[in-house]
Amino acid sequence: MSAHPFTKNSGLLAHYMALDQRGVVQAEYIWIDGDGEVRSKCTTLDGPVKSIKDLKEWNFDGSSTNQAPGGNSDVYLRPVAYYPDPFRLGDNILVLAECYNNDGTPNKANSRYECNKIMNQAASHKPWFGMEQEYSLFDMDERPYGWPKGGFPGPQGPYYCGVGSGKVFARDLVEAHYRACMYAGIKISGINAEVMPSQWEFQVGPCEGIEMGDHLTVARYLLVRVAEEWGVKVSFHPKAVPGDWNGAGCHTNYSTEDMRKEGGMKAIEAAIEKLAQRHLEHIEVYGADNDKRLTGKHETGHIGEFSSGVANRGASIRIPRHVAAQGFGYLEDRRPASNVDPYLATGKIAATTLL
Ligand code: ADP
Ligand code: MN
Ligand code: MN
Ligand code: MN
Ligand code: MN
Repeated sequence: MSAHPFTKNSGLLAHYMALDQRGVVQAEYIWIDGDGEVRSKCTTLDGPVKSIKDLKEWNFDGSSTNQAPGGNSDVYLRPVAYYPDPFRLGDNILVLAECYNNDGTPNKANSRYECNKIMNQAASHKPWFGMEQEYSLFDMDERPYGWPKGGFPGPQGPYYCGVGSGKVFARDLVEAHYRACMYAGIKISGINAEVMPSQWEFQVGPCEGIEMGDHLTVARYLLVRVAEEWGVKVSFHPKAVPGDWNGAGCHTNYSTEDMRKEGGMKAIEAAIEKLAQRHLEHIEVYGADNDKRLTGKHETGHIGEFSSGVANRGASIRIPRHVAAQGFGYLEDRRPASNVDPYLATGKIAATTLL
């Protein structure tokens, strides 16, 4: 990849990043803003953090992030989890925070609060989730990354899990993100190049309960942050390129303890029946512009109609072939869009099937 004018000079930076910190550490607080995008800011701490209680409640100007009116703009950041920082290394950390208003109520952008309540109520079922995050890469001129100037790449076919020049784009960026997730302790379970050129997927999971939203949020932060170094933009739009190109989803795999046991197929079928009753309620929280993706084409089920089936990639819910064969395991909800709020999606699935 050629150097981009907005990309920092990593050769120069290396010298400064190797300087001794003299005992103090950096904590990068991460939160979700009023538009569902990640934001972050950094503070210096006296020394290494040993427990979440060592981290202070902090605040920011919510009027600048579509999270509060200008006249009452303080929004509070309450740390909920922290991770080793793959950029600054050492004892430096990333801090995931929930947003609260001045009066102590959860901020409108804080969907984790409700999700956490649901997950606590459902905890005895040990709900596991695994999310397949698809995304598309763009250059600074808003062109799909690596696509020929003034034209289009050849039709879809060679790109999914592709190998070789002209079939995959930005593998180095993807590889960097994968390792950054591992370093941070994010349960990233794999990656693959997707059907549309310059579209990729990473999987996170299985994660139990609230950990799913937390790990996916941090994985998204890491992706956007790594891509920044390459001068590449990440799009989570479910139909990033109009036309005969695959949209982007965030398939959400789900199981409970009952589903994972011998004979678990019964519990899987019971859950699918409950999900069928609430199709539209689920679609409402599965991401904006999902109607542009769930057309019934390009390996999707139609947005207006619930369907399920074994090994059926054109259904709302798919039971993987190997799950049907062994009689227990998990189901795959294929409806969530790539821009889905993972706290809303996992909370909704748990509430519909367990509460
Ligand atoms: P696909 O065949 O649909 O492309 P992937 O391999 O991309 O599937 O993703 C499968 C996802 O399912 C992973 O995120 C994985 O963590 C998750 N998963 C595996 N087993 C379970 C389970 N028992 N419960 C919930 N999620 C699971
Ligand atoms: Mn200031
Ligand atoms: Mn997948
Ligand atoms: Mn995929
Ligand atoms: Mn899938």
